[in-house]
Amino acid sequence: MLFAMTSWSVAFDALGSVRVVVSFSVLESLVKEVGGERVEVESLIPRGSDPHAYGLSPQDMVKLGDADVIIFNGLGFEGGLERALDALDFRGAWVEAGRGIDVEMLGDHDDHGDHGEGGVDPHGFHDPEAVKVYGRAIKDVLVEVDEEGSSYYEERYQDFVRRVEALDRELKEKFDGYEMGEGEVILVGHGGLGYFGRAYGFHFEGVEGLSGVSTLSGHRLREINEKIGEDEVRGIVYEYGRNDRLLRLLSEEMGVLIGGPFYVETLGEGGGTVTDWFSMMRHNAEVVLGVLM
Ligand SMILES: [Zn+2]
Repeated sequence: MLFAMTSWSVAFDALGSVRVVVSFSVLESLVKEVGGERVEVESLIPRGSDPHAYGLSPQDMVKLGDADVIIFNGLGFEGGLERALDALDFRGAWVEAGRGIDVEMLGDHDDHGDHGEGGVDPHGFHDPEAVKVYGRAIKDVLVEVDEEGSSYYEERYQDFVRRVEALDRELKEKFDGYEMGEGEVILVGHGGLGYFGRAYGFHFEGVEGLSGVSTLSGHRLREINEKIGEDEVRGIVYEYGRNDRLLRLLSEEMGVLIGGPFYVETLGEGGGTVTDWFSMMRHNAEVVLGVLM
């Protein structure tokens, strides 16, 4: 499903001349997969920083204004960006790459503030099935602004889909035998892992609020205690770039294995191994396996 405001084709002279601005690093990786050498991608939200707390700078507004294509997640993932596009009166092509996916709802304890519209979980990029939809939306908008490159984008997209499917099979094999029973959960910080759970048969439950709030209500603590008492907590996973103090305390006091970091909504900062969507998925799978062993 494509939501482009205007559609026209622009003549691009050389490779790398389609200027794409995306909101965050995971999307940057997906655009590089499909766009290859014909695109130049820039991500607004720096790696490692929290998209919930991100405000657009005046420089970001300039970058957005200069873009040939703006690609963002949508589904309420980037509330500020949606408002900025209205303010800019942007006339180029843009797309919400996550718009056409089969959506999950946020759980009761997946506290996301206003991140996620109408209770929809916007983190669809953790499910390979949904990521193919992201890839198609990216391909379609690139073809729209750079028609000459259409067979190039089509081929890269087909290749991307093949590799996504291969990775999906690889992870399903890894997880074979680790599926969770009724009522069992893996505890996480702020939530947003519903799509990963859907893809691989796990149920994640958020325990804390946004931005690593480090206290729990007595009521919530009793609920978690009860789950642990009934052997329903299979493990605890902390997230990259977020405060893990509370989760470590829970792990220590309740004797439940903790592992991480799970990369929820950013790739790693320089030097790490999580450099693109594929390495993010493999890394996250190892983290989950690590706490389930
Ligand atoms: Zn989130």
